[in-house]
Amino acid sequence: MKFSIYTYDSEKTSNVKNDLEQKLALKDFVHNPENPDIVFTIGGDGTVLKTIHHYMDAGILSDVKFVGIHMGHLGYYTDWLPEELDDMVNFLTTREIESYSYTLLEAKLCAGSKTRMRYALNEFTILNATRTQHLDIKINEQFFESFRGTGICVSSPTGSTAYNKSLGGAVVYPSLPVYQLTEIASINSNAYRTLGSPLIIPAEQTITLESENWDSTTLTQDYLQLDISELTAIKITLSDKQVHFVKRKSGLFWNRVKNHFL
Ligand code: NAP
Repeated sequence: MKFSIYTYDSEKTSNVKNDLEQKLALKDFVHNPENPDIVFTIGGDGTVLKTIHHYMDAGILSDVKFVGIHMGHLGYYTDWLPEELDDMVNFLTTREIESYSYTLLEAKLCAGSKTRMRYALNEFTILNATRTQHLDIKINEQFFESFRGTGICVSSPTGSTAYNKSLGGAVVYPSLPVYQLTEIASINSNAYRTLGSPLIIPAEQTITLESENWDSTTLTQDYLQLDISELTAIKITLSDKQVHFVKRKSGLFWNRVKNHFL
């Protein structure tokens, strides 16, 4: 089996990485970062996000299965702890590997007739720290509301426990085919009104975001920042692209939410 290991905090994680490499070598795993079957990440959910974007950019995301090893507690994309390396290697070598898949969000960035696609595992946000951001929001090309405020967050089901949760959004079960739009500090007055509640939108519908002014606006794609200056519209929906993780056990999601937040 071909594998690769990613870690972005070398000091804290190098011992775990060395340990894992030795254990994998004893089981005939071959190091192949260009074309791996399994990618191990050592670190938190942020490390998983960075590694996923690496393989997305390399164009082989759908061929890879991820295994997350968290340094502190179990994260949302990480199923194993450093003290479980023997169990994990045993698990991977003594049974048929099953996987589960999480759906990405896709954003079509439109600049006149030119378009480019971007994908996020957690969320896209549009933020303006200095000006009141104006956004016209359409759902399936029908006008829904005019937003004035700091911005909005559009999150995937698995991203619902990340930035979306801090904004008062709902926690969504990961396999549901929906995505969520959450407001960031909307202005609500006699002059301006938004719905005010998070919206849960079915996968087959698209939201379109338009603004006459993107000055000092930031568009984020997970931990990345995208250039927005030339855009005429941003169209976001749930993608049919997915990221695959090795399945350890089922039924862990609500326990994870409980252990993480309560
Ligand atoms: P990071 O520092 O490793 O991650 C930021 C925090 O978000 C960590 O505590 C991480 O949990 C947690 N996290 C990431 N994905 C999550 C998920 N799906 N469910 C629950 N928690 C999750 O790395 P980063 O590069 O800044 O990460 C980017 C992410 O940070 C963005 O995608 C966004 O969701 C999040 N963020 C949150 C806020 C906020 O809540 N106010 C603001 C900006 C960005 P671990 O401890 O497991 O790594």
